[in-house]
Amino acid sequence: MHPHDQTIFALSSGRPPSAIAIVRLSGVGAGPALQTLTGKLPPPRLATRALLRDDRGDPIDDAVVLWFPGPASATGEDVAELHVHGSRAVITTLVSLLSAMPQMRAADRGEFTRRAFENGKIDLTEAEGLDDLIHADTDRQRRQALRQLKGLLGDKARSWRDQIIQAAALIEAGIDFADEGDVPAELIAPALAWIRQLLAEIEEVLAAQGRAERLRDGLTVVIAGPPNAGKSTLMNQLARREVAIVSPHAGTTRDLIEVALDLDGYPVTVIDTAGIRQTDDPVEQEGVRRARDRAAQADLVLWLTEDDQAELERQTDGPIWFVRNKIDLMITEQSGAISVSPESPVFAISARSGAGMSDLLEALVGFARDYFGSTEHGLITRERQRTLLSETAAALRRSIAVVDLGEELAAEELRIAALALGRLLGRVDVEDLLDVIFREFCIGK
Ligand code: GDP
Repeated sequence: MHPHDQTIFALSSGRPPSAIAIVRLSGVGAGPALQTLTGKLPPPRLATRALLRDDRGDPIDDAVVLWFPGPASATGEDVAELHVHGSRAVITTLVSLLSAMPQMRAADRGEFTRRAFENGKIDLTEAEGLDDLIHADTDRQRRQALRQLKGLLGDKARSWRDQIIQAAALIEAGIDFADEGDVPAELIAPALAWIRQLLAEIEEVLAAQGRAERLRDGLTVVIAGPPNAGKSTLMNQLARREVAIVSPHAGTTRDLIEVALDLDGYPVTVIDTAGIRQTDDPVEQEGVRRARDRAAQADLVLWLTEDDQAELERQTDGPIWFVRNKIDLMITEQSGAISVSPESPVFAISARSGAGMSDLLEALVGFARDYFGSTEHGLITRERQRTLLSETAAALRRSIAVVDLGEELAAEELRIAALALGRLLGRVDVEDLLDVIFREFCIGK
């Protein structure tokens, strides 16, 4: 238990006005606050209707309240939830009353989750999963985040860490036993076999990691081609709503250069390079700079042309699909996929009428499916997790390599491996990291 002397509160639901708003409190002051507002503490963990009153006894709102005494609560502390009507007036009144209570203050971003973490309710990988779940845009991202939140990586890391510590103990026992001279091989061999097996498991998870990380970030598709080819029009078709300004004059696509799409559950960001051009407006310059950076790292380029002669400007090393646009102007043209060569398919579309779009979309979904592959087994979703797991694997490898030089050296490497896993779980040495991680969260979470 990690007691905090301050009680925190926050509006945990969305922006008012809304049908219902949830104000959440955590800390020693949650119970007294509930008592002050409702007259008495409700029974634990039961939704209870209550009239909330201010300090003069005037009613604030007819509410439903919940009382979760610690440690059996989300944060491990006393937690109260006030489900009120989601008007600005109700929330403002409630918040100003709470702010005036002793040792009570508005919560920082992610502070509820941070307290849950500090009280051992969740490990750091689970906190990251929670953050991903809140920010998930597509169904596949949601499922992946939920796996993380359920502690799949955390459970594995804990088990590896325990086993590494035990293997290290075996080796150290051997060192004590041998006293001087070499540790008998029959003591070292089983420990080494154990470490090799752990290393294989970790390497397997590392090998499968790329895709889970990708699913979190999404796939980037760039629409490029000569001016007036119809890039912005295609962007609008893909987004099925008016996202970019389409105009016959070059240079008019200004603001929206990126749009996030949900393609069959896969997150895909489409960048319209028509928006990438010289500009004197500093804000726009920054947008253009970012779009250019992202376009350079595109996973797929759709090269849009009006005719076959148009020159291709290669902007990435990645795959390029040719898309011939404006077929509505060419009476004899067929629409859709006109060459199915998997490396560089050619499509014929009319971005304006939508002809041929279904083939192109279907191909994009297929591309996304291949790109993300099976993410069901991916456990690593972040750079932080990958780095620490790689460090663990490297230390295990070194421990195997140095054991002939001295068992103490091997045991030391095992300690380094266990430490890296401890940091993955957030159990050691992460104070500086916590601010960074929890800052990403929403207020009230
Ligand atoms: P960008 O400069 O590549 O972004 O091109 P725009 O999307 O702004 O399109 C340039 C012009 O071509 C606009 O007048 C569009 O309406 C027109 N256009 C785009 N796609 C089509 C199409 O499929 N058929 C026809 N006929 N015109 C199109």
